[in-house]
Amino acid sequence: MHTNVRNSDEKINLDHLLIEQVELAGLSGIHTGGKADLAAYPSDFDELRLLLDYAQTHKLPITILGSATNCLISDDGIEGLTIFTCHLRRRHVQGEMFCVRSGLLLDRAIDYALEDGLGGLELLGGLPGTVGGAIAGNSGAHGMHISDLLYYVDYMTMDGKMHRKQIHRDDFTYRNTPFSNRKDIIIYEAGFRLTPITQTSEARKRKDEVKAKRKLNGQYDHPSIGCIFKNPEALHAGQLIDECGLKGYSIGGAKVSLRHANFIINPNKHATSSDVKALIEHIRQHVFEKTHVMLEEEIHYVGRW
Ligand SMILES: Cc1cc2nc3c(=O)[nH]c(=O)nc-3n(C[C@H](O)[C@H](O)[C@H](O)COP(=O)(O)OP(=O)(O)OC[C@H]3O[C@@H](n4cnc5c(N)ncnc54)[C@H](O)[C@@H]3O)c2cc1C
Repeated sequence: MHTNVRNSDEKINLDHLLIEQVELAGLSGIHTGGKADLAAYPSDFDELRLLLDYAQTHKLPITILGSATNCLISDDGIEGLTIFTCHLRRRHVQGEMFCVRSGLLLDRAIDYALEDGLGGLELLGGLPGTVGGAIAGNSGAHGMHISDLLYYVDYMTMDGKMHRKQIHRDDFTYRNTPFSNRKDIIIYEAGFRLTPITQTSEARKRKDEVKAKRKLNGQYDHPSIGCIFKNPEALHAGQLIDECGLKGYSIGGAKVSLRHANFIINPNKHATSSDVKALIEHIRQHVFEKTHVMLEEEIHYVGRW
């Protein structure tokens, strides 16, 4: 039994936090991937710190997942300890600052901010995934990026210490941030400087409209991990893939979406991550042969690749 002291009079039983051999396909946006050797869902600072301590002591690599809507998880699973942030979801308001833990779904965070009379994030309505995942990849839509209103990020390093980074917009570029592809930090909380609004109905309408647009575009119709490739300078990856005649092309159960060529979908939930990876390589090679543009992934590969 792994028992650790949380504070002088309370104990956290690590056996209740750690789960072995967790099936990940059902938890990933595209419904593919193997098992996590060991997984945990911390719900607060102390649990997170204990988990990091446990991983350090046992020399386990750590993988952080929000909603896995931007990740391709290996069919061979994830080694070490996988930490899901989805139970870190508290929020509070300090004046015009909306402070939220990283595991809250971004779409829900926008609703809560509006309930608290704070607006500004509505254009990101309907974007799947957590606040932490969106910050790690500087997610964006409709000309807005999550970094536009981000004021601070609290993150934990693997020694269990918490740090605050004040955000300068120059630190964040297109799908790239100081927190991207880092194995050594966990985004814990973020503060957004929002705008107080008394009448929230207009803002709510704006959010509902962008979400409805996503629905209309068929974005939620099939399991996917969103756009596979970054847009090359002044070009659209989806357009290039479409012009190469790849819409509908499939390998195994993975298929290039007929609606949006930069999406790979898993319509029958029969695809493996290897199918998706093979399709990604096929698209990249084909687009390069035809256009001399080398596409680069926006998605993250997670686990034993
Ligand atoms: C239908 C659909 C539509 C989409 N539309 C868009 C869009 O319009 N714009 C856009 O930008 N993206 C879009 N995406 C991609 C995806 O929704 C975003 O990238 C989202 O922000 C990912 O959040 P997540 O919680 O799922 O992150 P995950 O996929 O779980 O993780 C992504 C990366 O972030 C890291 N990470 C996650 N949480 C933390 C944390 N707390 N601390 C440190 N690292 C962390 C992970 O380790 C991983 O490297 C879309 C996806 C889908 C399925």
